[in-house]
Amino acid sequence: MITRFAPSPTGPLHLGHAYSALTVWDVAAKHGGAALLRIEDTDSTRARPEFEQAIYDDLHWMGLDWPPPVRRQSDHKAAYGRVIEELTKRQLVFPCSCTRREIQAAGALPGVEGLVYPGTCRHRSMNDARPGDAIRLNISAALSQIDHPMTFVELSSGTAIKHHVAPDQLTKDIGDTVLIRKNTGEPAYHLACVHDDALQSITHVVRGMDLWAQTPFQVVLQNIMGWPTPKYHHHPLITDDSGKRLAKIDKSKALSKYRAEGATPDDIRRLVGLPPSSC
Ligand code: GLU
Repeated sequence: MITRFAPSPTGPLHLGHAYSALTVWDVAAKHGGAALLRIEDTDSTRARPEFEQAIYDDLHWMGLDWPPPVRRQSDHKAAYGRVIEELTKRQLVFPCSCTRREIQAAGALPGVEGLVYPGTCRHRSMNDARPGDAIRLNISAALSQIDHPMTFVELSSGTAIKHHVAPDQLTKDIGDTVLIRKNTGEPAYHLACVHDDALQSITHVVRGMDLWAQTPFQVVLQNIMGWPTPKYHHHPLITDDSGKRLAKIDKSKALSKYRAEGATPDDIRRLVGLPPSSC
């Protein structure tokens, strides 16, 4: 059993991250498995070295450890480029120069991650890609290459629940998603994340419920690329807790501030509603 915590170093870790990280390590311990740390820093406009260092410091302070080396996605752009090469050969991707305003003007409807791309550039070939173009997956073409039902297993309720990925719903909710970002040419979250989950042989993805709606798209990418689908455990979001327990705490306060004020790792566990550490 291998799981991972995959933060983006775009700000200080707060209690929501602490809850997520502690849940990842708790689930690994329960299964006698390993927890890896992966730094999802492909968005160079937002990632900062000081936030990456703070991730190492905060996690170590909470008593969490991981086997080296830490995979830093920004060090592996060529690997994500190779996936795009394969998808290009299979004619499943297209270049896109649309701005947000153009996408809005074309009548795009809201989906699970913003506006669903209306298909303006879908006819374009990768041979005509221009510098600065985004690269999108042609979701209909991709789905037409998958000839079996797609499913994933969710474990968060304590029992394994099988979910079916509905192709029509995906086309409507997610559409032609960006795999390579406009202007920077950097891999977008889904591409880097799904590639790395496969590369690192992740068997269990433990992460927040905020990513629940993205999971079907990730399952499609796994099926197109012939990568295995891990089991999923989407934990509740600490900010979604309507109970009184968390009502009084400042959810956005950086972990380092709790540390500076003399809190202990078990105080953090208590604050996020987890039992004290057993070790
Ligand atoms: N890097 C993502 C984030 O910080 C998490 C991705 C994942 O766990 O799949 O929200």
